[in-house]
Amino acid sequence: MSVDRRTSRDLDADQVACARCGELKDIADLDRLLWCDRCRRLTRNQATRWGWLIGLSFAGGIALYIWLGIHGSRALIGGWVATVVAALWLASKVGREVAYGVIRYRDTKAVEAPRSSEP
Ligand SMILES: [Zn+2]
Repeated sequence: MSVDRRTSRDLDADQVACARCGELKDIADLDRLLWCDRCRRLTRNQATRWGWLIGLSFAGGIALYIWLGIHGSRALIGGWVATVVAALWLASKVGREVAYGVIRYRDTKAVEAPRSSEP
């Protein structure tokens, strides 16, 4: 018959501070950069906003190029619109991933971390 002899000190050994917000979390809940789920989710949301901004900029550039550069035919307007929409979708996805990587690489500390009152 074994007796559980763990003390509170042993239990705290599994607790690690999130590298971004500083809150103590179970080490199993942190990723390899020691970010908690909440920080990753909020950073992903921030990167999504940046991705849409990048996508809109890129698609706007494509639309201007089609309109002013190659003078797209009105008979193919559906194809041009589909091209711009595809550029928007792809550029927003790529922009989101690049923005997420840049934010993670910068690894801003608790200065930009979400407050504990945020979801
Ligand atoms: Zn965190």
